[in-house]
Amino acid sequence: MRYVSTRGAAPKLGFEEAMLAGLALDGGLYVPETWPTLSPAEIADLAGLPYEEAAFRVMAPFIGDAFPEAELRGVIARAYGCFDHAARAPLVQVGPNEWVMELFHGPTLAFKDVAMQLIGQLFEASLRRSGRRITIIGATSGDTGSAAIDAFRGREGVDVFILFPDGRVSEVQRRQMTTPAEPNVRALAIAGDFDDAQARVKDMFNDHAFRESARLAGVNSINWARVLAQAVYYFTAAVALGAPHRKVSFTVPTGNFGDVFAGYVAKRMGLPIDRLVIATNQNDILHRTLETGRHVKEGVAPSISPSMDIQVSSNFERLLFELYDREGPAVATLMAELRDKGGFALSQGALDRLRADFDSARASEEETSAAIAAVHDAAGMTICPHTAVGMHAACLRRGDPKTPMVILATAHPAKFPDAVEAATGLRPPLPPHMADLMDRPERMTRVPNDLAAIEALITRELA
Ligand SMILES: *Cc1c(COP(=O)(O)O)cnc(C)c1O
Repeated sequence: MRYVSTRGAAPKLGFEEAMLAGLALDGGLYVPETWPTLSPAEIADLAGLPYEEAAFRVMAPFIGDAFPEAELRGVIARAYGCFDHAARAPLVQVGPNEWVMELFHGPTLAFKDVAMQLIGQLFEASLRRSGRRITIIGATSGDTGSAAIDAFRGREGVDVFILFPDGRVSEVQRRQMTTPAEPNVRALAIAGDFDDAQARVKDMFNDHAFRESARLAGVNSINWARVLAQAVYYFTAAVALGAPHRKVSFTVPTGNFGDVFAGYVAKRMGLPIDRLVIATNQNDILHRTLETGRHVKEGVAPSISPSMDIQVSSNFERLLFELYDREGPAVATLMAELRDKGGFALSQGALDRLRADFDSARASEEETSAAIAAVHDAAGMTICPHTAVGMHAACLRRGDPKTPMVILATAHPAKFPDAVEAATGLRPPLPPHMADLMDRPERMTRVPNDLAAIEALITRELA
């Protein structure tokens, strides 16, 4: 399998190179040259398999011979062996034909672990083979950074720098990034919001001299291997609920559009997904795009679901590539408009296609809180505020009640205890293996929102 850039002006790469590169040299994102499909019989065969086996069957067509079969199976086994639930991504029924998929059973309690633990293992296997050394730079609104630091702590051949918006992540998120003692992982608190952090990371990748000298690699949600890892649980959930014999819908709490795009990938592979509902908080650029056909940035307003406080949804570019018939130059023009004018209008054809697969809804802060309380009262279940945004959206965009609706539970409630306590009066406890998180010593560096200063710091640290 070869990978092409969404902007059409970078060399095609194999799976391993696309994974290590992250961003393409023309500023675009890598996508597979064609979409492999699973037949209805192959999808039906996934029923009842261990998660790891389903993961192997869904991902193998995209990986081709980049990793030999035995090595890939070992990578997957090690990635998910540390999850604290046998199903890895269990379904819990919360209403009539309505289900929550718990994606927070990994080491840092958010769904980012599903992809990041796999990437950690894939990188290690690849670097061991080549004897190379790389530097991973990432921006985080909280959960990606903690997942990346956990996945790479102590791994040989890899240095990790994670930029997070100073003061805008929860205490649990911050501590998960600042308490690991391994010297190869470092948390940088940037004076700015998540979009600033993400923009500086993009700048570093676009500074080709720095990119070369620091041997940069990216593991942000733009990394194709992460999107791919997330496609797996759409299959396991849909098959458990009757696919390929019946359709299933999903509601996805959305920020950077990686998770919901993985659902689109599953659909392109042949999984009978009816609706993909994009759930946004008050930072609702994607909801406005579906409503109006105009994709226009506004300022980020901090919310109680901080991992979705985003106005630049990087992975949306991958969908644009599909909406515009895979024409790289058309995507490059739109992305330049977004950068220079703060937004763009979709063509009518692109908007129609977008609406053919996706719905959207937005939850205000009050609606998010109310959803946490309502699920607690009705189902006795405690959900995190991101999941609550999804619950609210699923309610508004339920569609045919005969079609199962799966809401993705993207984080453990204990990762966002203040919002949960405010809504329910109860403070969700951390799982036992993390009980001493609040007592561990922290280690982090504050940096200005300034490219040169950040590059200088990283260069010094690597010397
Ligand atoms: C990252 C994250 C999201 C948003 O996922 P995207 O792939 O960026 O759309 C939602 N909820 C939680 C808890 C997250 O960590």
